[in-house]
Amino acid sequence: MTDAVVVGSGPNGLAAAVVLAAEGVRVRVLEAAETIGGGTRSSELTLPGLLHDECSGFHPLAVDTPFSRRFDLRSLGLTWLWPEVQYTHPLDDGRGGAAYRSVHETAAGLGADGPSWRRVFGALTERFEGITEDFLRPMLHVPAHPVMLARFGAYAAMPAALLGRRWSTPEARALFGGVAAHALRPFGSPMSSAIGIALGTAAHAYGWPVAQGGSRTIAAAMAALVEKNGGTIETGVRVESLAELGTPDLILLDTAPADAVRLAGNRMPARTARAYRRYRHGPGAFKVEYAVEGGVPWAHEPSRRAGTVHVCGSFAETAEAERQVARGVMPERPYVLVGQQFVADPSRSAGNVHPLYAYAHVPSGYTGDATDAITAQIERFAPGFRDTVRATHVRSTTDMSVHNPNYVGGDIVTGANSAWQLVFRPRPALDPYATGVPGVYLCSAATPPGAGAHGMCGYHAARSALAYLERGAGRESGDAGA
Ligand SMILES: Cc1cc2nc3c(=O)[nH]c(=O)nc-3n(C[C@H](O)[C@H](O)[C@H](O)COP(=O)(O)OP(=O)(O)OC[C@H]3O[C@@H](n4cnc5c(N)ncnc54)[C@H](O)[C@@H]3O)c2cc1C
Repeated sequence: MTDAVVVGSGPNGLAAAVVLAAEGVRVRVLEAAETIGGGTRSSELTLPGLLHDECSGFHPLAVDTPFSRRFDLRSLGLTWLWPEVQYTHPLDDGRGGAAYRSVHETAAGLGADGPSWRRVFGALTERFEGITEDFLRPMLHVPAHPVMLARFGAYAAMPAALLGRRWSTPEARALFGGVAAHALRPFGSPMSSAIGIALGTAAHAYGWPVAQGGSRTIAAAMAALVEKNGGTIETGVRVESLAELGTPDLILLDTAPADAVRLAGNRMPARTARAYRRYRHGPGAFKVEYAVEGGVPWAHEPSRRAGTVHVCGSFAETAEAERQVARGVMPERPYVLVGQQFVADPSRSAGNVHPLYAYAHVPSGYTGDATDAITAQIERFAPGFRDTVRATHVRSTTDMSVHNPNYVGGDIVTGANSAWQLVFRPRPALDPYATGVPGVYLCSAATPPGAGAHGMCGYHAARSALAYLERGAGRESGDAGA
């Protein structure tokens, strides 16, 4: 019987294990942490009864993918819940922009910029299913939907600073700036609109749902499927070298590229090792969980009903904060992403006390304490916020990388979203999952299509590994690339 070891149980490791187990491969998943899930863990971090997502909170790109269509996680306990407002961006004086599922409802709230918002996001939303088929995979392929992909690509290729000029009202500009900042890139850099356009369109096409009972239920559903198909999962096992794993037919690494080099040692061809060592990580995140009584008193009313609130002020302020972070400077007023999962999933709260999730973009490896800066940013748009806080839990960039070695320097997206790495991650190669070691594949978010708890990196990596077996394992190096 064919056997495989998957190192790491993040959503990509688990998705790879699901695909392999479904094909009759005997799969063993080894996880360093005591709990499965990597970036999809949830726990009580502040007060008893309050459930916090430790990493991923919102899942617009996980709802409808080739993986989710083939493996129905909803039958294994995963339930998506949607907030009424998908994301907002408050401004001073109680104003702000709000994104709803409906493009028209969103446009209606953006005054003079409504028609332009509709023009950019309307057509993309209608065809998003086809577009995702093309972008949730390695960039180098013959597109299935070339016309729509070209339209999507034309926006995605632009620097966010340039695309942002389409809008003139502070509300629409800030709304776009807030979603573009998810790329963790300076707004002047090429392709810095790509992630914002994808997530912004996804908000209208699929919404930004949360998992009922916490993101941990995503991992639990995948784990149940692995085990149902005969696979096993062991926690508390940190793999230090491939040599420990015996001689399985396949090894899939849900790790950062540099860790793959360390694990493979001199088995890895020098050119892959060089490319993996050169792989660049992005800025960091500093995360604060709050227990808040009565919710956050946002002055901008739609923000009270939103799942995600982007907090930074105007487009220009967001652009400046992202520019400073990229240059290694901690902004006085950082970009803060606030998650109010409880508005969609009240089961996470204890009575009138709710779990609030917030993280700021900070320089890679930032060693200071960003707690006060985060609290001050929220207080700026929600006067009285400080008085609602009953408890906090803080995770610095160092804590982030100890919690999960894939988050190097606090890089929560496992690799800088530079134009080069958006196209060629983790290195230029026909098969970006192949490590050059026969039968050993990289399956983490460092591979296409990149970060997110969608499992698509693991899905493609497993298919690549299965194709290698079909071609006759051992007859080639597994390195299809340059
Ligand atoms: C604060 C934060 C907020 C985020 N928000 C969102 C969001 O809202 N929506 C979204 O879609 N995504 C979000 N993400 C990103 C998302 O969580 C990641 O992109 C995703 O989890 C990547 O999955 P992965 O399987 O590649 O790796 P990970 O989830 O990072 O998992 C890797 C796993 O491998 C294990 N491992 C590594 N090395 C070894 C080893 N040597 N031996 C054994 N085990 C090992 C690690 O312990 C870990 O469990 C967020 C991440 C963070 C941290």
